Amino acid sequence: CGIVGYIGTQEAVPILIDGLKKLEYRGYDSAGIAVLENGIRVEKKVGKLAALEESLEGITFTAQTGIGHTRWATHGKPSDENAHPHTDCTGKFAVVHNGIIENYLHLRDRLKEEGHEFISETDTEVLPHLLEKYYRGDLVEAVRLVIQQLRGSYAMVVLCMEEPDKIVAARQDSPLVVGLGENENFLASDIPAILKYTKRALILEDGEIVVLTADKVTVFNRSNHEVDKKVFEVPWKA
Ligand code: GLU
Repeated sequence: CGIVGYIGTQEAVPILIDGLKKLEYRGYDSAGIAVLENGIRVEKKVGKLAALEESLEGITFTAQTGIGHTRWATHGKPSDENAHPHTDCTGKFAVVHNGIIENYLHLRDRLKEEGHEFISETDTEVLPHLLEKYYRGDLVEAVRLVIQQLRGSYAMVVLCMEEPDKIVAARQDSPLVVGLGENENFLASDIPAILKYTKRALILEDGEIVVLTADKVTVFNRSNHEVDKKVFEVPWKA
């Protein structure tokens, strides 16, 4: 339902939580974050954001890269296990997703036959497992191969332990914007989540894949060509 992402030089967790708060108006039943800190670390909780914040109390995070999600359950009840982010068997990938993967049952059955173990009841969990299956050392390429398998709608954001300098995202029929900062960049499903930090945004279109590093944002179209996106100056006040 709500998505945020951060990569830069500040502590990621407070920015992720703050961004999710700004998206609260959308309604949700659970919330979670994944950060890159000695590998991928996931914290997620059913209920309000306050429940997640409570479970984070006393934990010191230093991560400067992370993703966050508030879930509006479509497949699988609201629970800790079904909350996003979801990971693969190796714990190498973490994914948040808005929308519905319509062919997830077919994909999941095939992945299970190939030995993948599923923890949640969500449609989303096929995404990290597909990434695990297709990853050959290039995250953007893996995301491209994965979205070719999907039917349905998605805004998905991916962290990969082996490429800690980037966040990769893709969208189809579900909104996603990039916020441009100074030595930091943001992702969100809606502008209010990033307004406090920047008013310069890129609006992603269907079929596009975006790669964020701390100091660069690159967008590719379906044919794998780099797209020259227009910067959108948000006219609203924070
Ligand atoms: N279909 C996914 C799920 O049920 C994502 C729901 C959402 O957009 O929040 O977990």
